[in-house]
Amino acid sequence: MKKLTNAKKRKIRRAAVMIMASAVVALAVLSVIINIITSVYNTDVKEDKSGFDYSKYAASRPHIKKMLLTENINSRPGTEISNINGIVVHYTANPGTDAEANRNYFESRKDEEDSIENKVSSHFIIGLDGTIVQCIPLNEMAYASKDRNVDTISIECCHPDDTGKFSDATYTALVQLSGWLCGKFEIDKNSIIRHYDVTGKMCPLYYVENEDAWNKLRDDIWQYFLSCEKDLGE
Ligand SMILES: [Zn+2]
Repeated sequence: MKKLTNAKKRKIRRAAVMIMASAVVALAVLSVIINIITSVYNTDVKEDKSGFDYSKYAASRPHIKKMLLTENINSRPGTEISNINGIVVHYTANPGTDAEANRNYFESRKDEEDSIENKVSSHFIIGLDGTIVQCIPLNEMAYASKDRNVDTISIECCHPDDTGKFSDATYTALVQLSGWLCGKFEIDKNSIIRHYDVTGKMCPLYYVENEDAWNKLRDDIWQYFLSCEKDLGE
């Protein structure tokens, strides 16, 4: 084999260095691109469920008026759910009506024919005065949020007028109820969602039309939850 001259060796070494340098630059560019793409798609992921220490917090259970629906094919199918991954907020779309009236509407579905239109319910309904009515046990499915019925807790909120904005009392009860559920099921802030986020329906109307109000509501729930630090004693 012919011996390489020093000049040739240097040339080869230089070429190798150039190739390695370009590879490093290419990798750096690629990682920047990947970071940009993931940050665009994950703008919401700030407080992740993983790594958050739920054992330090415990919002107490607010007063809940249990008025469970009769088990029936339409509004309370009795389907067991065990893996809760979120809370879905709704509005009743029926201004001025109260929690019990809406609960009774769900109950009345039991006498109707077995059809998609009659399948409507919710785990909770919060009244205009902040009364929390529970219609369905937390280990059973409600018909409220389409594809997410199987792994979420649904909360319907009453509202005084057409804007769909919640009264102060409803708002406060929603914050307390959701804060309690966050601790109970280890739900993170970004898993508190609107019906709109599941199906695109304008529900809860005011909080779809006013993104700032929705972000504030979600912040208020999370801040409330974080304010309920467990007293771990000495
Ligand atoms: Zn809804």
